Amino acid sequence: MKLVVASNNAHKLQELRAILSTLGMEVVSQREAGVFVEPVENGATFEENSYIKAKTVMDACGLPTVADDSGLMVDALGGEPGVFSARYGGDACKSDRDRLEYLLRRMDDVPDEKRTARFVSVITMLTPDGTKIAARGERPGIILREAHGENGFGYDPVFYVQEEGCTFAQLAPERKNQISHRARALEAFVRKIREENEYVDK
Ligand code: IMP
Repeated sequence: MKLVVASNNAHKLQELRAILSTLGMEVVSQREAGVFVEPVENGATFEENSYIKAKTVMDACGLPTVADDSGLMVDALGGEPGVFSARYGGDACKSDRDRLEYLLRRMDDVPDEKRTARFVSVITMLTPDGTKIAARGERPGIILREAHGENGFGYDPVFYVQEEGCTFAQLAPERKNQISHRARALEAFVRKIREENEYVDK
């Protein structure tokens, strides 16, 4: 079965391709499927935005489509940046680094013991015959006061994982892909798809 990924983000595509190909699915990017629409991510939750992305792209190409919506939720900030993770700080923040520094400034007064956070990912698959399968994965961690490490993207350099003793940006990419929120969501998704779906090689 051919599955379109509703993203042109190379990082996400690579992770999704690696795992979904184990189900016997041929994964193609939305660009490879000839889809150039930009979904309007105006949902209030990761679930809603993940659905919006998958639906927009499926409607444009008529093929089964999978989408990931993800972000960082900081407890001391009431769950911010949440669904706004990619555009946190508005137009004043033009890069991942600007957004990371904006987050650290917002957390200046937050004491060490209250700097808990989690990354969240919601994966949604839609098929033209009306099937919908969604799964959520979370990875808890702590927001440091300064950046450490060069790998990964986004907020990785300030996201410290206690069990690993380092930030996401200090982990080898293969290790991050084993333990991340996206890996957890994909595991839950693969479990559901094996249970509920006749398309896959079991
Ligand atoms: P999306 O592409 O609309 O799902 O936005 C995801 C945003 O959440 C990214 O731009 C990052 O800011 C943040 N994010 C999601 N997953 C990660 C991760 O694994 N590491 C660092 N930042 C992430």
